[in-house]
Amino acid sequence: MQFERLQSALRIRSLIKSSYMHLILEDADLDGRQIQCRHCYWHGNASELKKGDYFLLTNITELFCPTCSKYLGFIQHDFPVENEPDPLLDP
Ligand SMILES: [Zn+2]
Repeated sequence: MQFERLQSALRIRSLIKSSYMHLILEDADLDGRQIQCRHCYWHGNASELKKGDYFLLTNITELFCPTCSKYLGFIQHDFPVENEPDPLLDP
């Protein structure tokens, strides 16, 4: 009983941790939101982030730090981005 409670507490904690690891932005955030890189502590505007691949299935674009190029998170788009190739569907 005690053990199960501990397990679910740990699961919740790891969920919180994983959402902290991913920066989840919306399209509107690119317009002025301040971002800090947790790897190199670069600080700047969300529009300066380097965009990675766009995934049609999940409708997200990966984001990377413009200075150290490490993965920071993704943009969850409101609408599908047109004319962007999906690397999973069209390698
Ligand atoms: Zn960085």
